Amino acid sequence: MTGFDRHSVPLLRDLPDVRGYFGAYGGRFVPETLMAPLVELEAAFRKFRRDLTFRRELNGFLKNFAGRPTPLLFAENLTKRLGGPRVYLKREDLCHTGAHKVNNTLGQCLLAKRLGKKRVIAETGAGQHGVGTATACALLSLSCEVYMGAEDMERQALNVFRMRSMGAKVIPVTSGSRTLKDAINEAMRDWVTNVQTTFYCIGSVVGPHPYPWMVREFQSVIGREVKHQIRDYQTGDPDALVACVGGGSNAIGLFAPFYDHKRVKFFGVEAGGEGLRSGRHSATLCTGRPGVLHGAYTYLMQDDNGQVLGTHSISAGLDYPAVGPEHAFYKDSGRATYVAATDKEALAGFKLLNETEGLSAALESSHALGSLPRLVRPMKNSQSVVLCLSGRGDKDMGQLTGILHLGSSDPKNT
Ligand SMILES: *Cc1c(COP(=O)(O)O)cnc(C)c1O
Repeated sequence: MTGFDRHSVPLLRDLPDVRGYFGAYGGRFVPETLMAPLVELEAAFRKFRRDLTFRRELNGFLKNFAGRPTPLLFAENLTKRLGGPRVYLKREDLCHTGAHKVNNTLGQCLLAKRLGKKRVIAETGAGQHGVGTATACALLSLSCEVYMGAEDMERQALNVFRMRSMGAKVIPVTSGSRTLKDAINEAMRDWVTNVQTTFYCIGSVVGPHPYPWMVREFQSVIGREVKHQIRDYQTGDPDALVACVGGGSNAIGLFAPFYDHKRVKFFGVEAGGEGLRSGRHSATLCTGRPGVLHGAYTYLMQDDNGQVLGTHSISAGLDYPAVGPEHAFYKDSGRATYVAATDKEALAGFKLLNETEGLSAALESSHALGSLPRLVRPMKNSQSVVLCLSGRGDKDMGQLTGILHLGSSDPKNT
């Protein structure tokens, strides 16, 4: 179906290929006016990723501004509770702004600055990427405008305030379902019009080439750190890596540095919403089919006519009807396994980590935690698994107080 040849498995350095494809997926499905700017962006990224001054500056910000390296924690109580392999948590929740997004926004905004672009635009769903972009722009003295669905602006009012307090302009999007997919459409329209002065900062490993590759490279700092940090605990690689998948940037950031280590298993956890059979979910890789959205050929949630389906998840950050093309390739080639955790399982994951380790994960990361008991079941006690704790749960506490009723009437919680 996809033309992928199982017998010629490429190495990470050949992903994507020169045309921006991961196997059959990726590419550049954009209006003509965006071809030249995308080619220019690709050339600039190729140059600056090897440029010593650029790398030093970015590493300086990652260290002193974002707080890297983030720790790798051995979750001893969680390990005991699950009764299986050793579980390690990669603490992206400790990044400045509370999630991994800032690894990418610092990289892209620094690139914008090098390209002499004074204006940065971004799209945001839950507001986390918007906050990450506004933060990097404030640091680097760039003007920042963020497209956000009007519906999402109401649901995530706190993040709208955070962006505005850092000097960003938040532009409500009232078209379509007034959510993330419509915000991306508007941001692309803006970019087509203002491409001379404007840098488009995309928040995940999605969009046209070179974005999926560029964002992977900026987020790969997660997996590179894990490779070194695991040495403090054991001699070999971890046996499995687990991460939640919205667009797929925290997952690819953890997975990619281990891509060529074939014995390390990858598990991506999508948002199963109210269950895959309910139709109310965002499990693109588990249930979708290939198609084109937002400039790339990838898995999509679509109807028989190719129309993009509405999505649902308890976590706004996973509520997206497509997925990064590299994940589509990992799925077809069997390099990674994709599963779904329902809203209920995510809530159980949230509680599990709170109770065992005293850590409140973001609802997105809670999906990875929710599927962990199932994923470790076939594993041996001598094995190990690293889970990406992509963000902290503070942003979700308001929503959670309305859902999880932890009252004094429940004797377990007194
Ligand atoms: C945005 C977000 C995600 C989902 O994005 P990916 O690109 O799939 O990583 C996951 N976790 C947190 C905490 C987020 O803010």
